[in-house]
Amino acid sequence: VDKLSPTKRSEIMRNIRGKDTAPEMAVRSLVHRMGYRYRLHAKDLPGKPDMVFRSKRKVIFVHGCFWHLHEGCRKAAFPKSKKRYWVPKLLRNRERDERILQELKTMGWKALVIWQCQLAKKELISRKINRFLAR
Ligand SMILES: [Zn+2]
Repeated sequence: VDKLSPTKRSEIMRNIRGKDTAPEMAVRSLVHRMGYRYRLHAKDLPGKPDMVFRSKRKVIFVHGCFWHLHEGCRKAAFPKSKKRYWVPKLLRNRERDERILQELKTMGWKALVIWQCQLAKKELISRKINRFLAR
């Protein structure tokens, strides 16, 4: 059951949509502490990746589970209210994400997607990022 009022829900969505979200900040500080340097939100790349490691031709996206429809994730359930609004919108987001990853790949960039729900396991995320950036 969607316990949030439509107003409250769209308020939350606006915040999630924006740049510099809490999950993104968490990943940024993690990567920073690992000693890697990066650029933010490169406008010249598809999807304006959250973190760009130009010399490595690698990017990291930090995705909110709801907004980017994390498959199989509890946080990614469709809202029960205003289904006709949310379902197509969220599906479009996911299609867009897939298209962006494909475009980056074609351009010779490697991309890593970190999901909001994975941030609870900082150790795991650190290892994942390390492996991604080192290879
Ligand atoms: Zn998730």
